[in-house]
Amino acid sequence: MSVKKHEGGMLINPIRDGTVIDHIAAGEALTVLKILGITGSCNEELSIATNVSTKNPAVKKDIVKISNRELSKSELNKIALIAPNATINIIRNSKVVDKAGVEIPTVVTGFVRCPNPGCITNSDEPIETKFKVVNGTLHCLYCDNILKSDIINYII
Ligand SMILES: [Zn+2]
Repeated sequence: MSVKKHEGGMLINPIRDGTVIDHIAAGEALTVLKILGITGSCNEELSIATNVSTKNPAVKKDIVKISNRELSKSELNKIALIAPNATINIIRNSKVVDKAGVEIPTVVTGFVRCPNPGCITNSDEPIETKFKVVNGTLHCLYCDNILKSDIINYII
């Protein structure tokens, strides 16, 4: 069996317009889609590659390509929480017009639920959740509860 070698691990077709999210940790592509609210029933044209080889033989990565959609700053910030090493390429007319790493936000609003059932954000009050980001953990600004590694389970 012969395996074709691709520069940069590009196993999926280039897109004309849209966003390429590269260097997602292997296995996290679906999490990134969940963050973006993209499910099987959305209209977005998607390409997903998982476990793509990188220059480092010990490291695999996932890549997500979304046609005809450029991600907003707040969406990029959310991705940063889950995939801090991701890089984002905005493609227009088959050319990369913007290439950037993701920035971990200092405060995230309305993105994750507070795990504390007694928190005011879990009451009937119409209060949006708000967390301060400290070294990859989320601190609820209402009840001081700390959300560590299982952030993905609390995404709204
Ligand atoms: Zn709370």
